[in-house]
Amino acid sequence: MTPQNIALWAQRKGIGVVGTADFTHPVWRQTLREALIEAEPGLFQLRPDLAAAVRRDLLEQTGPALAEAPAPRFLLTTEIAVIYQRAGKTRRIHHLICLPSFAAAERLSVALAQVGNLHADGRPMLGLDSRDLLAMTLHSDADALLIPAHVWTPWYALLGARSGFDSVEACFGDLTPHILALETGLSADPAMMARVSSLDRYRLVSHSDAHSPSKLGREATRYECELDYHAMRRALATGAGYGGTIEFFPQEGKYFHDGHRACDVHLNPEVDTPADGLCPVCGKALTTGVLNRVLALADRPANQSDHAPAPFVSLTPLAQIVAELAGVKSPNSKRVTRAVERLLGRLGPEIPLLTQVPLAQIAEVGSELLAEAIRRLRAGQVIRQCGYDGVFGRIRLFAPDEAVSTRRWLDMLYRC
Ligand SMILES: [Zn+2]
Ligand SMILES: [Zn+2]
Repeated sequence: MTPQNIALWAQRKGIGVVGTADFTHPVWRQTLREALIEAEPGLFQLRPDLAAAVRRDLLEQTGPALAEAPAPRFLLTTEIAVIYQRAGKTRRIHHLICLPSFAAAERLSVALAQVGNLHADGRPMLGLDSRDLLAMTLHSDADALLIPAHVWTPWYALLGARSGFDSVEACFGDLTPHILALETGLSADPAMMARVSSLDRYRLVSHSDAHSPSKLGREATRYECELDYHAMRRALATGAGYGGTIEFFPQEGKYFHDGHRACDVHLNPEVDTPADGLCPVCGKALTTGVLNRVLALADRPANQSDHAPAPFVSLTPLAQIVAELAGVKSPNSKRVTRAVERLLGRLGPEIPLLTQVPLAQIAEVGSELLAEAIRRLRAGQVIRQCGYDGVFGRIRLFAPDEAVSTRRWLDMLYRC
């Protein structure tokens, strides 16, 4: 992985500001220092020679539409896993940290190196209480952000059924006012978060949580403020300049329903999950999904009108849509990748393509079928197969009995 590779994929997706990830790792931090220069306060961009190389690659892959778009900015981010005992329970929680300078990243890394090994993993695992991690983070820079990551996932999250707490306050105590935002995670969305009134005061954010650059932008946060770390932080603190999130359909996340993967058991907690929480096949404990956990903490009914959820749109990746239309199993196949690059070259980056590009234009370039798929996506008219116990769910745009003749679609696209 290189910063150039991250920049290239961010540009393909239409991401304006991308997280560097892993800044606590000494080798990666050095790589970032050498590749990035400050662009705006607290934000960075590639050195001009590296940026030119990315533009050349984009031009080759997709043509000028993407290569000439503004270069993405980098924000210094890392994810830290903490594990500790509190009130007789083992807590395992992931936190996202954002900092405005390499100097702050250096200070925090030096402090955390006293606690545990930062060389082994980009996301270090430290024996540290969440409150103490927050204190150290704020000590490194008063404008630092600590955002509890994918807060509902069962194993490694602030509100997780197996790992966390029942409230943000229970986790951070006296330092709670320094928490401005919570990350929804792939298996939850703002409508689900709105069921729990104690979360109302937090801004909701979403990020790719990507372990490969092609998955960048599967979730994102919209900012309408100026391009500046401090303005983004202010947007989270005050709501002015915060524009909501881009989400996975939560059903597509891998911990939406309850289940036991080894037994192929998946259960909807609202109707199917037995009260004892045990797998009906083997008798072991089921993995409690995000929906079940939200229901356990919910103090409002669904769609209650007195509290509107934060604005959001739900999307599924373009490669997945193309794979469905083409009748190809893997969205990573060469043919699908090639087709996606052709579409991006003509219609521009992926997120605006999925959310804003006029359907008539999509129909002209990519066929009526693709335009219909994206119309359905935008209207939320999708078929949802729910994820459970680490198995990703699946979003489809067409029912099997619609008998769309799709195979020839990909060939048509190749010729266009
Ligand atoms: Zn995580
Ligand atoms: Zn089982």
